[in-house]
Amino acid sequence: MLDRIYLDHAATTPVRPEVREAILPFLGDDAFGNPSSSHAFGRSARAAVEHAREQVAAAIGAGPQEVFFTSGGTEADNLAVLGSALARRNDRGGLAGAHLVSTPTEHKAVLAALHEAERQGARVTLLPVDANGAVDLAALDQALGEHHQPTLVSVMWANNEVGTLQPVRSVAARCAKAGVAFHTDAVQAFGKVPVDLREITWAAVSLSAHKVGGPKGVGALVARDPVAHASLIHGGSQQRGLRPGTENVPGIVGFGMAAELAAREQSAKAAAWGAMRDALQRAIVERVPDVVVHGAGGSGQRVPNILNVSAPGTDSESVLMHLDLAGVAAASGSACTTGSVEPSHVLLAMGVAPDLAAAGVRFSFGALSREEQVPRVAETYAAVVAKVRKLRQVLARA
Ligand code: PLP
Repeated sequence: MLDRIYLDHAATTPVRPEVREAILPFLGDDAFGNPSSSHAFGRSARAAVEHAREQVAAAIGAGPQEVFFTSGGTEADNLAVLGSALARRNDRGGLAGAHLVSTPTEHKAVLAALHEAERQGARVTLLPVDANGAVDLAALDQALGEHHQPTLVSVMWANNEVGTLQPVRSVAARCAKAGVAFHTDAVQAFGKVPVDLREITWAAVSLSAHKVGGPKGVGALVARDPVAHASLIHGGSQQRGLRPGTENVPGIVGFGMAAELAAREQSAKAAAWGAMRDALQRAIVERVPDVVVHGAGGSGQRVPNILNVSAPGTDSESVLMHLDLAGVAAASGSACTTGSVEPSHVLLAMGVAPDLAAAGVRFSFGALSREEQVPRVAETYAAVVAKVRKLRQVLARA
């Protein structure tokens, strides 16, 4: 893998050495206890879980009693969105009392949970976003003033495809004024921009460990009031019944360490990634005719580690395949279903034309990124775009 360049840190990141070291004892014969057991083995596992809860809470300015560990960001989002609707189930089991307000550019974990809540009778309102992906605050005001008042507003802190930072402070303030619970998916924001919950009014926040050097399959729903979310799985009384099941002790310990490091290093890392991202953007714009940069215009602000570009006359599937062959790992929000490329739902919601939305390529910087990689990535992308454009012209003529 030495000469391969990994620019897909928004998908996942390698486990940090400090995290690996923290986890290892919990995979051995000494620290393997069940945190619910009252004997010494159990108590030491419990202490480790509670220490991690404190680390995660401190990293985002929350209280440890507000951190509920989950199997990752997807479960946290489901618990926030579907869980809040299920908590309002009526006598006949329907969710008609729930009104969930969100945006069309959320992660599928939120969108699919909204869809399921809607299927069970909840009302769902998706607010429009502008060309940068920022939510329309006037539309939010309108939704908050409706007779069937929203029961939850869910707006992601940072978008995973284009990196757009939502105006979370304004959204939170509006929700607070209207007395409506506010959830934010901070999976892509945490570690990239300051996430300090003491600065906003919030009801629930989703986090995931593997985006910040922690292990996969662990995350957290940070919830002010656990009773406002019905649990999605049923079992014992762990984590106050909101998230039953024996805790993933090694994963949680790793998450705690990763969260502490991510918060401590956020500003230095953000500056380094931002410089590399901006250099790559400049180099690509210079080399690739007609290339479009998504989510960077106007007052739109992005996380520092994401660049999303489309080259007209290409499709992301072909570009990513050729980039991979040339040793560059990137990603797209487009999905290849039954042989055709489905344009990214995020880019479409931002008003990007379907052809261009099906050509979006995301480069995301992180722990493995080095300044020296930037020129090679720009050159490789330019060469791949030229090749794909030529191939498509030949195919169109055939
Ligand atoms: N939310 C956002 C914004 C994400 O980017 C992701 C992961 O891609 C998730 C939620 C899901 O997190 P996990 O992979 O931990 O389930």
